[in-house]
Amino acid sequence: MSRFVIEPPPQASVAVAGNSGRFPVRRIICVGRNYAEHAREMGSDPDREPPFFFMKPADAVTDGGVIPYPPLTASLHYEVELVVAIGAPGDHVAPGDGLALAYGYGVGVDLTRRDLQNAAKSAGRPWEWGKAFDFSAPCGPLSPVSAGGRAAPDARLSLTVNGQLRQTGVISDMIWSVPEIIANVSGAMRLAPGDLIFTGTPAGVGPLSPGDVVAARIDGLPPLDFSIAPRA
Ligand code: MN
Repeated sequence: MSRFVIEPPPQASVAVAGNSGRFPVRRIICVGRNYAEHAREMGSDPDREPPFFFMKPADAVTDGGVIPYPPLTASLHYEVELVVAIGAPGDHVAPGDGLALAYGYGVGVDLTRRDLQNAAKSAGRPWEWGKAFDFSAPCGPLSPVSAGGRAAPDARLSLTVNGQLRQTGVISDMIWSVPEIIANVSGAMRLAPGDLIFTGTPAGVGPLSPGDVVAARIDGLPPLDFSIAPRA
C-alpha cells in the first residue's frame, strides 16, 4: 500500500555527461539580469544593483528534443544561460565557499513568454506566467565537477537559431559571479542538492517560431539542442 493517495509525480531530472544516472531536480532558481548588455537591451541600468531572482517549477526542465510552442504568447524568447547544479546543502554561504556547493555545470535556455513578462512588469505583477510554463527550462547534460566540469571565466556562451548566431557572451561578463550568486541565494533560502541555478543571459535575446532549431553552447560543457514543434 502506497503512502500516497495518488501516484507521486515523476521526479524531474537532467542528464549527466558520462553517467547513465540522472541528476534529480528539486527547484529551479533563475537570476533576473546578470549581463550588462542584456540589462541595457531590456531597458535596465546595468549598475551593480543586488541581483534578483525568479523561479520555475522543477518539472519545467527538459532535455531538449522537440518543445511545444507554449500557449498564451506571440513572443516566445530564447535566453542561453550557464546552469549550476547544486550538490551540497548550503545556508548563508560565504562567496568564497560558494563553488564548493556545485555538483556540476550545464547549458540551459530560459524560455520566456516575453509579451506576458513585459505585461507583468508594467502592471507590477508576478513573472510566473511569463517564465514558469511547461518545458520552459531546457537543459543539456551536466558536466560534473568531479569529472572536470567547470565554468571557466573565459568560456564563451552562444546561441544559434537555424544556424544563425543570435547570442554571444563570456562567463566573465556576468555582473554577479557564480560563487556570489550561490552566496546570495543561500542567504534567502536554504540551497539543497538538486537545486538548479540559471545564471542569467547575455545580450541578443529574441523570438522563436514554430519549427526553429536552437543550438545553445558554452565552451567546455555538453551542448544543448532543441527545436520548437512545427505549427500543427
Ligand atoms: Mn534568464
